[in-house]
Amino acid sequence: MSSDKKVTCLVCPRGCIMTVTSDLKVSGNFCARGIPYALQEVKEPKRNLTYVVKVEGHEVPLPVRTEQMIAKHLIPAVVNELRKIVVKAPIEFNSIIVENILDSGVNIISSAEVK
Ligand code: SF4
Repeated sequence: MSSDKKVTCLVCPRGCIMTVTSDLKVSGNFCARGIPYALQEVKEPKRNLTYVVKVEGHEVPLPVRTEQMIAKHLIPAVVNELRKIVVKAPIEFNSIIVENILDSGVNIISSAEVK
C-alpha cells in the first residue's frame, strides 16, 4: 500500500494536485512555490482564519483575521475563543485584538476599523 499523500496547493488559483512520498519528495507542482506548501501540509497543515468579534454597544461585529497562518487543528478552539470576545471601540485597522492566541504564536488582528 502506498503511503504517498495528495496535497492540493492553495498558494495560487491554479490549484496543482501534488504528491508527497514518504521520503518527502514532491511531484505534481507546476512551480517551486508548491514544494514548501506541500511539505508544511504533510507536517502540520496551516490555514488563514477570518472571523468576527462583538463590539460593545455596536450591532455590527468587527471582522478579524489571523496575522499569519495558524495550525489547522487549532482553528475550532480559536473560533471558540473569538466567540467569547467583546472589544471596545475605537479600533484601528490591523490592531492586535488577541496577542498569541492559545499560545499559537499567532495574533488575531482587526480587518476593519470601528470609530
Ligand atoms: S504549485 Fe505553483 S502553480 Fe501550482 S498551485 Fe502551487 S503556487 Fe500555483
